[in-house]
Amino acid sequence: MASRMINIFANEDSYSQDTRKLLRRKLQQSGFAVPKQFTSDAELIVSIGGDGAFLRTLHKYDFPPIPFLGINTGHLGFFQEIHPDELDEFVFLYKQGRYNIQNLKTVRATVEQEGQQYEYQGLNEIAIKGDHSTTIHLNISIGNSFIERFSGDGILVCTPAGSTAYNYSLGGSIVDPRLSILQITPIAPMNTTAYRSFTSSVVLPEELIVTVHPEPREGSGFMIVADGMEHSHSSIREVTLGFSQTEVKLMRFEHYDFWTKVKTKFL
Ligand code: NAP
Repeated sequence: MASRMINIFANEDSYSQDTRKLLRRKLQQSGFAVPKQFTSDAELIVSIGGDGAFLRTLHKYDFPPIPFLGINTGHLGFFQEIHPDELDEFVFLYKQGRYNIQNLKTVRATVEQEGQQYEYQGLNEIAIKGDHSTTIHLNISIGNSFIERFSGDGILVCTPAGSTAYNYSLGGSIVDPRLSILQITPIAPMNTTAYRSFTSSVVLPEELIVTVHPEPREGSGFMIVADGMEHSHSSIREVTLGFSQTEVKLMRFEHYDFWTKVKTKFL
């Protein structure tokens, strides 16, 4: 019978690299195969580092439908479930099937530029910003209704999982990931007699699509930023944003509770 395969990825940090080697040995001793390269035949992907490392692995392998386990090596670690001193317990519980899978919604954006379409996906958020630090103007519709001509640094559209990241720093709400809602959050909105923009975030049900028509900018373009990864566009005719069909699967153990995590990480 073929061995059960587990992918392990770690950031460059020496503690993460040591943890990777130790886990590989423990998994091999328990009968698992740990390939050197990513394989889509693996039943689990272990990401060692922080949330940033986890997000980069997710994007690099194009949001695979394989569950992820995050091991936190000294970062904030909101997506990460265990610490390096819990490897034995993890292997024991994993072999017994004693875990839950948390399914997290993702957001997608379709960008139209000069007749070409570009697709982006984010677990946390997708932001639309200028590529130079001047004000941008975005005409925003929700469903079939035109809502506002936004003026400021940009906007982001975030998932419940991303509500505790950039969105939270911008004054957006923390959303329990069991809810299926998207949040549009302004980045430095201008609200003066010259420009009128919403200054708080707006919360939408999952079926609504957000359409954005950025106003052209002389000599500058736009940036679509998906989970911190930047994509430049010299001009954009339209961006549509909504939930994607893809969900990210995260391994969680018995003790996991979203609100306990929020409290321990933020308060
Ligand atoms: P990064 O330095 O890797 O991450 C910035 C911080 O956000 C790190 O402390 C990271 O945790 C934390 N983080 C990521 N996802 C989170 C989540 N869902 N809930 C709570 N905290 C989370 O930055 P990056 O590589 O440019 O972008 C990755 C993410 O960082 C983006 O998706 C964005 O949400 C966030 N970001 C935040 C700000 C801000 O708050 N002003 C600005 C830009 C980007 P770890 O320490 O565990 O990696």
